Amino acid sequence: MPTDPASRYERTEIPSETREERITTFGELLHSYTTDEAMLEGQRCLQCAMPYCVQGCPITQDCREYNLLVGLGRFDEAAKVVLRENPLAMALCKTCYHYCEQACIMEERGVPIAIRHLKRAAMEFGQSNRLYVPSQPLHQRVAVVGAGPAGLMAAWELCLRGYAVTIYEEEAYIGGQAATIPKYHMDGNELEIDVARFRNFDCTFVMERRLGRDFTLRGLLDSGYRAVYLALGNSTYRGLGVPGEGLAGVVPALEMLRDVNEGPPVALGKQIVVIGGGDVAMDAIRSARRLAPGASVTVVYYRTREKMAASDEELSGAIEEGVRFRFELATLRVVGTSRVEGLAVRRVTSGPPSPSGRPTLVAVPGSDETIPCDTVILGIGERADLTGLPPELDLFTGGRGWPQGKHPDTMTGIDGVFASGGKSVVHAMAAGTRSAEGIDAYLRRKDGLPPIPRPDPFGEGIPPTLPSGYGGATWEP
Ligand SMILES: Cc1cc2nc3c(=O)[nH]c(=O)nc-3n(C[C@H](O)[C@H](O)[C@H](O)COP(=O)(O)OP(=O)(O)OC[C@H]3O[C@@H](n4cnc5c(N)ncnc54)[C@H](O)[C@@H]3O)c2cc1C
Repeated sequence: MPTDPASRYERTEIPSETREERITTFGELLHSYTTDEAMLEGQRCLQCAMPYCVQGCPITQDCREYNLLVGLGRFDEAAKVVLRENPLAMALCKTCYHYCEQACIMEERGVPIAIRHLKRAAMEFGQSNRLYVPSQPLHQRVAVVGAGPAGLMAAWELCLRGYAVTIYEEEAYIGGQAATIPKYHMDGNELEIDVARFRNFDCTFVMERRLGRDFTLRGLLDSGYRAVYLALGNSTYRGLGVPGEGLAGVVPALEMLRDVNEGPPVALGKQIVVIGGGDVAMDAIRSARRLAPGASVTVVYYRTREKMAASDEELSGAIEEGVRFRFELATLRVVGTSRVEGLAVRRVTSGPPSPSGRPTLVAVPGSDETIPCDTVILGIGERADLTGLPPELDLFTGGRGWPQGKHPDTMTGIDGVFASGGKSVVHAMAAGTRSAEGIDAYLRRKDGLPPIPRPDPFGEGIPPTLPSGYGGATWEP
């Protein structure tokens, strides 16, 4: 316990790169706590009777418990608590948007407990290479399409229950969009480390095979899979729909970030503009900052700073790294003959709300200008690519595009085919759990049996329990 009561309200500082270091490399921004620092931070946790942190977590990670164990220096036990609900913990301890910290009661009194960083301490100082233990085989096969967080989580849930799972993935790497997260957040091996814990499962990866091109849904169902889970994410970018979008030098953020991590090398110009206001746009501009030292880097966004979807962490990081922001500018066209020479924009302000409730945009007369630039990065959003999939799936794609089955258990319009995904790694994992539970209930129902509750993932027969005081999930997929 911190000796000075006032120090309870101050976070144990998370070691990080200096500004000068961070803009020249893709090295991780945040460094580990020492064991002493982690214990000190763990001891700040009030161990609330009502664990708002757990309630705020889409996968009900028992953070209150691992905070306690880290505070006591019992790192092995802390790692076990983390891994009990969270098979992608190594990735999440560096990339999660930490909804737990937003819910932490210390937020009101000072700074929330550094819950995500305590997870990292548990993983780094505790025994985090435990293998998961499957139940007795059920001799039933389920196909998962998409090796992103939703697909991996569903595979974990199903394999734990004894199902045999085959994961089909279009790319040569696992992780989906999570594999495009820049290396200054996580160095790139975390997902492999996480999936290595699946070694004892009856789980097969079939890579570089695209549903709708290399195989069909009907083919899967006819070849003995009793159910199929589509965890397709929103793997393609949204275009602007303005003239000049096809010019050389216009780069989709999603493709650029994927190439930065998975190759080929990315070359950018000297005057770089990113259009967009979400985390992907921030990752793109901060990566551009590192890829093109000395270049000018500017974000153009059509609403005010307050309306940006980017997290405070990303926004303040970009500002610290010298990114310039231009707000309330609507893009008119990309200027140039064969290559980008500029971005034509017009100042806009918020007008009365539209029928959907969002404020309309009102153009400011005489405010047109051209921002000189040689590279335009499109970071305005992603969407699902459903090419080659049967329309009978009747998928809901929502505002952000994660294809989802319309039934409450995420079943699609085709019997035995489920679909879901999520807006962050941990939300996608929660969606994977929901679909896996739906698949299990569906298959068991067919055999006249009750669903199988999630077994103890370490095969020690300890029944799964929710933390005391837990009042029910509050997340939306
Ligand atoms: C640049 C970037 C940075 C991000 N940073 C963070 C972050 O820091 N923290 C955070 O929590 N979230 C972050 N996110 C969001 C997070 O990565 C996604 O919400 C999450 O990955 C969604 O998981 P998913 O499994 O639903 O879909 P995806 O991750 O998109 O996975 C879908 C998988 O399905 C495959 N697939 C699609 N169609 C087919 C097909 N027809 N056949 C075979 N395979 C197919 C795709 O190749 C992909 O591997 C970031 C996203 C991006 C793009």
